[in-house]
Amino acid sequence: MKLHEYQAKELLAGYGVPVPEAHVASSAAEAVDAAVRLGGRVVVKAQVHAGGRGKAGGVKVASEPAEAGTIAASLIGTTLVTFQTGPQGAPVHKVLVEQTVDIDRELYFSVITDGERRRPVVIVSSAGGMEIEEVARETPDRVLTEPIDPAIGLQPFQGRRLAEALELPASAVRPFVALAEACYKAFMDTDASMIEINPLVLTKDGRLLALDAKMSLDDDALFRHADAAALRDTAQEEPLEVEASEAGIAYVKLDGNVGCLVNGAGLAMATMDIVKSAGADPANFLDVGGGANEEKIATAILLMLSDASVERVLVNIFGGILRCDIAARGIVDAYAKADRRPPLVVRMLGTNADEGKQVLADSGLAIELVDTLREAAEAIAR
Ligand code: ADP
Ligand code: MG
Repeated sequence: MKLHEYQAKELLAGYGVPVPEAHVASSAAEAVDAAVRLGGRVVVKAQVHAGGRGKAGGVKVASEPAEAGTIAASLIGTTLVTFQTGPQGAPVHKVLVEQTVDIDRELYFSVITDGERRRPVVIVSSAGGMEIEEVARETPDRVLTEPIDPAIGLQPFQGRRLAEALELPASAVRPFVALAEACYKAFMDTDASMIEINPLVLTKDGRLLALDAKMSLDDDALFRHADAAALRDTAQEEPLEVEASEAGIAYVKLDGNVGCLVNGAGLAMATMDIVKSAGADPANFLDVGGGANEEKIATAILLMLSDASVERVLVNIFGGILRCDIAARGIVDAYAKADRRPPLVVRMLGTNADEGKQVLADSGLAIELVDTLREAAEAIAR
Protein backbone atom coordinates (compact mmCIF):
# COMPACT_ATOMS: atom_id res chain seq x y z
CA MET A 1 0.00 0.00 0.00
CA LYS A 2 1.40 3.36 -1.05
CA LEU A 3 1.19 6.53 1.02
CA HIS A 4 0.92 10.07 -0.26
CA GLU A 5 3.86 12.42 0.18
CA TYR A 6 2.01 14.40 2.87
CA GLN A 7 1.16 11.22 4.80
CA ALA A 8 4.72 9.89 4.61
CA LYS A 9 6.11 13.26 5.74
CA GLU A 10 3.72 13.44 8.70
CA LEU A 11 4.64 9.91 9.69
CA LEU A 12 8.38 10.49 9.35
CA ALA A 13 8.19 13.84 11.17
CA GLY A 14 6.73 11.89 14.10
CA TYR A 15 10.01 9.94 14.19
CA GLY A 16 12.05 13.15 14.20
CA VAL A 17 12.82 13.44 10.48
CA PRO A 18 13.04 17.16 9.62
CA VAL A 19 10.53 18.17 6.93
CA PRO A 20 9.54 21.62 5.60
CA GLU A 21 6.48 23.23 7.13
CA ALA A 22 3.44 22.43 4.99
CA HIS A 23 -0.35 22.10 4.93
CA VAL A 24 -2.61 19.85 2.87
CA ALA A 25 -5.33 21.53 0.81
CA SER A 26 -8.35 20.06 -0.99
CA SER A 27 -9.49 23.31 -2.61
CA ALA A 28 -8.09 26.58 -3.95
CA ALA A 29 -9.41 28.45 -0.89
CA GLU A 30 -7.61 26.05 1.46
CA ALA A 31 -4.43 26.46 -0.58
CA VAL A 32 -4.60 30.26 -0.31
CA ASP A 33 -5.16 29.96 3.43
CA ALA A 34 -2.21 27.57 3.77
CA ALA A 35 0.06 29.90 1.77
CA VAL A 36 -0.91 32.84 4.02
CA ARG A 37 0.00 30.82 7.09
CA LEU A 38 3.34 29.87 5.51
CA GLY A 39 4.25 33.48 4.76
CA GLY A 40 3.34 33.80 1.09
CA ARG A 41 5.94 32.15 -1.12
CA VAL A 42 5.22 28.41 -1.37
CA VAL A 43 5.51 25.28 -3.49
CA VAL A 44 2.23 23.62 -4.49
CA LYS A 45 2.58 19.87 -4.98
CA ALA A 46 0.00 17.49 -6.48
CA GLN A 47 -0.60 14.48 -4.22
CA VAL A 48 -0.61 11.31 -6.30
CA HIS A 49 0.86 7.86 -5.73
CA ALA A 50 3.68 8.42 -8.21
CA GLY A 51 6.95 10.21 -8.66
CA GLY A 52 8.04 12.34 -11.58
CA ARG A 53 5.55 15.07 -10.61
CA GLY A 54 8.09 17.86 -10.97
CA LYS A 55 8.74 17.14 -14.65
CA ALA A 56 5.03 16.60 -15.30
CA GLY A 57 3.94 20.01 -13.98
CA GLY A 58 2.70 18.68 -10.64
CA VAL A 59 5.11 20.75 -8.51
CA LYS A 60 4.91 24.54 -8.94
CA VAL A 61 6.21 27.58 -7.12
CA ALA A 62 3.78 30.35 -6.13
CA SER A 63 5.18 33.74 -5.19
CA GLU A 64 2.09 34.83 -3.27
CA PRO A 65 -1.09 33.22 -1.79
CA ALA A 66 -3.45 34.09 -4.66
CA GLU A 67 -1.10 32.35 -7.08
CA ALA A 68 -1.04 29.29 -4.80
CA GLY A 69 -4.83 29.26 -5.14
CA THR A 70 -4.65 29.49 -8.93
CA ILE A 71 -2.14 26.64 -9.12
CA ALA A 72 -4.17 24.49 -6.71
CA ALA A 73 -7.30 25.11 -8.81
CA SER A 74 -5.42 24.08 -11.95
CA LEU A 75 -4.29 20.80 -10.34
CA ILE A 76 -7.19 19.64 -8.14
CA GLY A 77 -9.74 17.62 -10.08
CA THR A 78 -7.37 16.87 -12.93
CA THR A 79 -5.43 13.76 -13.83
CA LEU A 80 -1.67 13.99 -13.62
CA VAL A 81 0.32 11.89 -16.06
CA THR A 82 3.93 11.24 -15.06
CA PHE A 83 6.35 8.64 -16.37
CA GLN A 84 5.46 6.56 -13.29
CA THR A 85 1.65 6.68 -13.60
CA GLY A 86 1.34 5.21 -17.09
CA PRO A 87 -0.71 6.96 -19.79
CA GLN A 88 -3.98 6.85 -17.80
CA GLY A 89 -2.49 9.11 -15.10
CA ALA A 90 -3.54 9.49 -11.47
CA PRO A 91 -6.33 11.71 -10.09
CA VAL A 92 -5.34 14.76 -8.04
CA HIS A 93 -7.68 15.34 -5.10
CA LYS A 94 -5.29 17.14 -2.78
CA VAL A 95 -2.21 19.34 -2.97
CA LEU A 96 0.51 19.91 -0.42
CA VAL A 97 1.27 23.59 0.10
CA GLU A 98 4.82 23.78 1.38
CA GLN A 99 7.24 26.51 2.36
CA THR A 100 9.91 27.05 -0.31
CA VAL A 101 13.35 25.89 0.66
CA ASP A 102 16.65 27.41 -0.47
CA ILE A 103 18.43 24.34 -1.76
CA ASP A 104 22.20 24.00 -1.73
CA ARG A 105 22.43 20.30 -2.67
CA GLU A 106 19.88 17.59 -3.58
CA LEU A 107 20.71 14.10 -2.24
CA TYR A 108 19.06 10.70 -2.47
CA PHE A 109 18.15 8.55 0.55
CA SER A 110 16.07 5.38 0.79
CA VAL A 111 15.42 2.33 2.93
CA ILE A 112 14.06 -0.65 1.03
CA THR A 113 13.75 -4.40 1.45
CA ASP A 114 16.40 -6.11 -0.65
CA GLY A 115 14.98 -9.49 -1.61
CA GLU A 116 18.30 -10.84 -2.80
CA ARG A 117 20.15 -9.92 0.39
CA ARG A 118 17.07 -10.81 2.48
CA ARG A 119 17.40 -7.72 4.61
CA PRO A 120 16.75 -4.00 4.56
CA VAL A 121 19.28 -1.78 2.83
CA VAL A 122 19.88 1.93 3.07
CA ILE A 123 20.78 3.51 -0.25
CA VAL A 124 22.22 7.00 -0.64
CA SER A 125 23.54 9.01 -3.53
CA SER A 126 25.00 12.46 -3.85
CA ALA A 127 23.05 12.71 -7.12
CA GLY A 128 19.60 13.45 -5.67
CA GLY A 129 16.51 14.76 -7.41
CA MET A 130 17.08 12.37 -10.31
CA GLU A 131 15.88 8.84 -10.98
CA ILE A 132 18.05 6.58 -8.84
CA GLU A 133 17.82 3.76 -11.41
CA GLU A 134 19.40 6.06 -13.97
CA VAL A 135 22.13 7.21 -11.56
CA ALA A 136 22.89 3.57 -10.68
CA ARG A 137 23.17 2.69 -14.36
CA GLU A 138 25.27 5.62 -15.54
CA THR A 139 27.34 6.49 -12.47
CA PRO A 140 27.23 3.48 -10.13
CA ASP A 141 30.10 4.89 -8.07
CA ARG A 142 27.75 7.67 -6.95
CA VAL A 143 25.43 5.18 -5.19
CA LEU A 144 26.23 3.56 -1.83
CA THR A 145 24.14 0.62 -0.61
CA GLU A 146 24.48 -0.29 3.07
CA PRO A 147 22.87 -3.62 4.06
CA ILE A 148 21.42 -3.61 7.59
CA ASP A 149 21.47 -6.64 9.86
CA PRO A 150 17.87 -6.65 11.13
CA ALA A 151 18.95 -8.30 14.40
CA ILE A 152 21.03 -5.30 15.45
CA GLY A 153 19.66 -2.51 13.29
CA LEU A 154 21.43 0.40 11.64
CA GLN A 155 24.77 0.94 13.41
CA PRO A 156 26.28 4.39 14.00
CA PHE A 157 29.37 3.53 11.92
CA GLN A 158 27.08 2.76 9.00
CA GLY A 159 25.41 6.12 9.43
CA ARG A 160 28.80 7.82 9.30
CA ARG A 161 29.82 5.79 6.25
CA LEU A 162 26.65 6.92 4.46
CA ALA A 163 27.27 10.52 5.50
CA GLU A 164 30.77 10.30 4.09
CA ALA A 165 29.48 8.99 0.75
CA LEU A 166 27.21 12.04 0.61
CA GLU A 167 30.21 14.32 1.27
CA LEU A 168 28.27 16.16 3.95
CA PRO A 169 29.83 19.05 5.85
CA ALA A 170 30.92 18.08 9.39
CA SER A 171 28.01 19.98 10.96
CA ALA A 172 25.47 17.88 9.02
CA VAL A 173 26.90 14.46 9.90
CA ARG A 174 25.17 14.04 13.28
CA PRO A 175 21.80 15.26 11.99
CA PHE A 176 22.16 12.89 9.03
CA VAL A 177 22.92 9.87 11.23
CA ALA A 178 19.89 10.75 13.38
CA LEU A 179 17.74 11.05 10.25
CA ALA A 180 18.93 7.69 8.92
CA GLU A 181 18.21 6.03 12.28
CA ALA A 182 14.77 7.64 12.46
CA CYS A 183 13.90 6.43 8.95
CA TYR A 184 15.13 2.94 9.71
CA LYS A 185 13.03 2.83 12.88
CA ALA A 186 9.96 4.09 11.00
CA PHE A 187 10.61 1.47 8.30
CA MET A 188 10.72 -1.39 10.82
CA ASP A 189 7.85 -0.13 13.02
CA THR A 190 5.42 0.27 10.14
CA ASP A 191 6.46 -2.87 8.21
CA ALA A 192 7.32 -0.63 5.29
CA SER A 193 8.75 -2.04 2.08
CA MET A 194 10.12 1.33 0.98
CA ILE A 195 10.87 4.79 2.31
CA GLU A 196 12.37 7.03 -0.34
CA ILE A 197 13.45 10.62 0.24
CA ASN A 198 14.36 12.11 -3.11
CA PRO A 199 15.53 14.73 -2.72
CA LEU A 200 16.92 14.93 0.75
CA VAL A 201 18.28 18.46 0.67
CA LEU A 202 21.05 20.37 2.31
CA THR A 203 19.74 23.92 2.61
CA LYS A 204 21.80 27.06 2.02
CA ASP A 205 21.88 27.54 5.79
CA GLY A 206 23.26 24.02 6.32
CA ARG A 207 20.16 22.11 7.45
CA LEU A 208 19.02 18.69 6.20
CA LEU A 209 15.36 18.44 5.13
CA ALA A 210 13.27 15.69 3.56
CA LEU A 211 11.84 17.61 0.60
CA ASP A 212 9.98 14.66 -0.89
CA ALA A 213 8.90 11.37 0.69
CA LYS A 214 7.49 8.22 -0.80
CA MET A 215 6.51 5.29 1.32
CA SER A 216 4.99 1.85 0.74
CA LEU A 217 3.71 -0.45 3.46
CA ASP A 218 3.77 -4.23 3.11
CA ASP A 219 0.17 -5.30 2.33
CA ASP A 220 0.70 -8.63 4.07
CA ALA A 221 1.55 -6.84 7.32
CA LEU A 222 -1.37 -4.38 7.31
CA PHE A 223 -3.29 -6.55 9.76
CA ARG A 224 -0.73 -5.47 12.36
CA HIS A 225 -1.41 -1.78 11.71
CA ALA A 226 -5.06 -0.95 12.26
CA ASP A 227 -4.24 2.76 11.95
CA ALA A 228 -2.78 2.31 8.45
CA ALA A 229 -6.22 1.64 6.93
CA ALA A 230 -7.05 5.34 7.33
CA LEU A 231 -4.09 6.22 5.11
CA ARG A 232 -5.28 4.16 2.16
CA ASP A 233 -6.44 6.16 -0.86
CA THR A 234 -8.24 3.76 -3.17
CA ALA A 235 -8.84 6.57 -5.69
CA GLN A 236 -5.17 6.13 -6.60
CA GLU A 237 -5.55 2.40 -7.25
CA GLU A 238 -6.85 0.43 -10.24
CA PRO A 239 -10.65 0.16 -9.52
CA LEU A 240 -10.84 -3.54 -10.41
CA GLU A 241 -7.87 -4.27 -8.16
CA VAL A 242 -9.66 -2.56 -5.26
CA GLU A 243 -12.84 -4.57 -5.92
CA ALA A 244 -10.80 -7.79 -6.14
CA SER A 245 -8.90 -7.16 -2.92
CA GLU A 246 -12.23 -6.60 -1.13
CA ALA A 247 -13.34 -10.04 -2.40
CA GLY A 248 -10.05 -11.62 -1.28
CA ILE A 249 -8.87 -12.21 -4.86
CA ALA A 250 -5.36 -11.40 -6.07
CA TYR A 251 -5.84 -9.44 -9.27
CA VAL A 252 -3.27 -7.48 -11.22
CA LYS A 253 -4.27 -5.68 -14.40
CA LEU A 254 -1.96 -6.23 -17.38
CA ASP A 255 -1.93 -4.95 -20.96
CA GLY A 256 -3.03 -7.94 -23.09
CA ASN A 257 -6.42 -9.45 -23.97
CA VAL A 258 -6.30 -12.98 -22.50
CA GLY A 259 -8.02 -13.16 -19.11
CA CYS A 260 -6.31 -15.79 -16.95
CA LEU A 261 -8.11 -17.39 -14.02
CA VAL A 262 -6.04 -19.73 -11.88
CA ASN A 263 -5.73 -20.98 -8.33
CA GLY A 264 -2.31 -20.36 -6.86
CA ALA A 265 0.35 -17.75 -7.61
CA GLY A 266 2.87 -20.21 -9.05
CA LEU A 267 0.25 -21.56 -11.43
CA ALA A 268 -0.65 -17.97 -12.35
CA MET A 269 2.92 -17.25 -13.36
CA ALA A 270 3.24 -20.50 -15.31
CA THR A 271 -0.05 -19.71 -17.06
CA MET A 272 1.10 -16.23 -18.03
CA ASP A 273 4.29 -17.78 -19.38
CA ILE A 274 2.41 -20.21 -21.62
CA VAL A 275 0.13 -17.45 -22.86
CA LYS A 276 3.19 -15.39 -23.74
CA SER A 277 4.99 -18.32 -25.33
CA ALA A 278 1.91 -18.91 -27.51
CA GLY A 279 2.35 -15.38 -28.82
CA ALA A 280 -0.60 -13.88 -26.88
CA ASP A 281 -0.66 -11.40 -23.98
CA PRO A 282 -2.34 -11.82 -20.58
CA ALA A 283 -4.91 -9.18 -19.66
CA ASN A 284 -4.44 -9.88 -15.99
CA PHE A 285 -3.03 -12.02 -13.24
CA LEU A 286 -6.05 -13.36 -11.39
CA ASP A 287 -5.53 -15.82 -8.56
CA VAL A 288 -8.52 -17.04 -6.56
CA GLY A 289 -6.23 -18.87 -4.15
CA GLY A 290 -6.45 -22.36 -2.71
CA GLY A 291 -9.73 -22.43 -0.80
CA ALA A 292 -12.08 -20.62 -3.20
CA ASN A 293 -15.76 -21.56 -3.35
CA GLU A 294 -18.29 -21.31 -6.17
CA GLU A 295 -19.23 -17.69 -5.37
CA LYS A 296 -15.62 -16.57 -5.29
CA ILE A 297 -14.93 -18.16 -8.68
CA ALA A 298 -18.03 -16.50 -10.12
CA THR A 299 -17.03 -13.13 -8.63
CA ALA A 300 -13.56 -13.51 -10.12
CA ILE A 301 -14.90 -14.31 -13.60
CA LEU A 302 -17.39 -11.41 -13.52
CA LEU A 303 -14.66 -9.08 -12.36
CA MET A 304 -12.47 -10.22 -15.22
CA LEU A 305 -15.27 -9.81 -17.78
CA SER A 306 -15.91 -6.25 -16.61
CA ASP A 307 -12.50 -5.41 -18.07
CA ALA A 308 -13.36 -4.63 -21.70
CA SER A 309 -9.89 -5.58 -22.89
CA VAL A 310 -10.52 -9.28 -22.09
CA GLU A 311 -11.39 -10.94 -25.41
CA ARG A 312 -10.72 -14.60 -24.49
CA VAL A 313 -10.40 -16.41 -21.20
CA LEU A 314 -8.04 -19.12 -20.09
CA VAL A 315 -8.96 -21.03 -16.94
CA ASN A 316 -6.22 -23.18 -15.51
CA ILE A 317 -7.36 -24.93 -12.33
CA PHE A 318 -5.57 -27.57 -10.37
CA GLY A 319 -8.20 -29.13 -8.14
CA GLY A 320 -7.07 -29.71 -4.57
CA ILE A 321 -8.90 -28.08 -1.71
CA LEU A 322 -10.81 -26.30 -4.46
CA ARG A 323 -12.65 -29.10 -6.27
CA CYS A 324 -12.89 -28.83 -10.06
CA ASP A 325 -16.68 -29.32 -10.12
CA ILE A 326 -17.09 -26.34 -7.79
CA ALA A 327 -14.86 -24.23 -10.01
CA ALA A 328 -16.87 -25.35 -13.06
CA ARG A 329 -20.17 -24.33 -11.42
CA GLY A 330 -18.69 -20.93 -10.56
CA ILE A 331 -17.66 -20.43 -14.20
CA VAL A 332 -21.06 -21.46 -15.55
CA ASP A 333 -22.86 -19.22 -13.00
CA ALA A 334 -20.76 -16.23 -13.94
CA TYR A 335 -21.23 -16.76 -17.67
CA ALA A 336 -24.99 -17.04 -17.14
CA LYS A 337 -24.99 -13.63 -15.42
CA ALA A 338 -22.43 -11.91 -17.67
CA ASP A 339 -23.51 -9.48 -20.37
CA ARG A 340 -20.83 -10.75 -22.72
CA ARG A 341 -19.32 -14.20 -23.15
CA PRO A 342 -15.80 -14.29 -24.58
CA PRO A 343 -14.63 -17.77 -25.67
CA LEU A 344 -13.20 -19.95 -22.92
CA VAL A 345 -10.33 -22.40 -22.87
CA VAL A 346 -10.37 -24.53 -19.73
CA ARG A 347 -7.76 -26.86 -18.37
CA MET A 348 -8.78 -28.77 -15.28
CA LEU A 349 -6.80 -31.35 -13.39
CA GLY A 350 -7.01 -32.91 -9.96
CA THR A 351 -9.89 -33.47 -7.57
CA ASN A 352 -13.21 -34.06 -9.36
CA ALA A 353 -11.79 -32.99 -12.74
CA ASP A 354 -14.14 -35.32 -14.64
CA GLU A 355 -17.21 -33.99 -12.81
CA GLY A 356 -16.04 -30.45 -13.50
CA LYS A 357 -15.59 -31.10 -17.22
CA GLN A 358 -19.04 -32.67 -17.34
CA VAL A 359 -20.58 -29.53 -15.78
CA LEU A 360 -18.84 -27.41 -18.43
CA ALA A 361 -19.79 -29.73 -21.29
CA ASP A 362 -23.45 -29.74 -20.16
CA SER A 363 -23.58 -25.95 -19.94
CA GLY A 364 -23.81 -25.38 -23.69
CA LEU A 365 -21.22 -22.58 -23.47
CA ALA A 366 -18.47 -22.14 -26.08
CA ILE A 367 -15.80 -23.86 -24.02
CA GLU A 368 -12.76 -25.66 -25.33
CA LEU A 369 -11.59 -28.28 -22.85
CA VAL A 370 -7.91 -29.17 -22.92
CA ASP A 371 -5.68 -31.41 -20.82
CA THR A 372 -2.15 -30.06 -21.08
CA LEU A 373 -0.47 -26.67 -20.84
CA ARG A 374 0.71 -27.04 -24.43
CA GLU A 375 -2.84 -27.64 -25.68
CA ALA A 376 -4.02 -24.68 -23.61
CA ALA A 377 -1.42 -22.45 -25.23
CA GLU A 378 -2.31 -23.63 -28.73
CA ALA A 379 -6.02 -23.18 -28.11
CA ILE A 380 -5.59 -19.68 -26.74
CA ALA A 381 -3.40 -18.69 -29.66
CA ARG A 382 -6.10 -19.90 -32.08
P1 ADP B 1 8.75 14.41 -7.74
O1 ADP B 1 9.84 13.52 -7.25
O2 ADP B 1 7.43 13.73 -7.82
O3 ADP B 1 9.10 15.11 -9.02
P2 ADP B 1 9.54 16.28 -5.61
O4 ADP B 1 8.82 16.48 -4.34
O5 ADP B 1 10.81 15.53 -5.54
O6 ADP B 1 8.51 15.59 -6.65
O7 ADP B 1 9.77 17.71 -6.27
C1 ADP B 1 10.49 17.88 -7.49
C2 ADP B 1 11.52 18.95 -7.31
O8 ADP B 1 10.90 20.18 -6.93
C3 ADP B 1 12.54 18.67 -6.22
O9 ADP B 1 13.63 17.91 -6.71
C4 ADP B 1 12.98 20.07 -5.81
O10 ADP B 1 13.98 20.54 -6.67
C5 ADP B 1 11.71 20.90 -6.03
N1 ADP B 1 10.98 21.12 -4.77
C6 ADP B 1 10.09 20.30 -4.19
N2 ADP B 1 9.64 20.78 -3.02
C7 ADP B 1 10.25 21.96 -2.84
C8 ADP B 1 10.24 22.98 -1.80
N3 ADP B 1 9.45 22.87 -0.72
N4 ADP B 1 11.04 24.05 -1.96
C9 ADP B 1 11.83 24.18 -3.05
N5 ADP B 1 11.90 23.29 -4.05
C10 ADP B 1 11.13 22.18 -3.95
MG1 MG C 1 11.03 13.40 -5.70
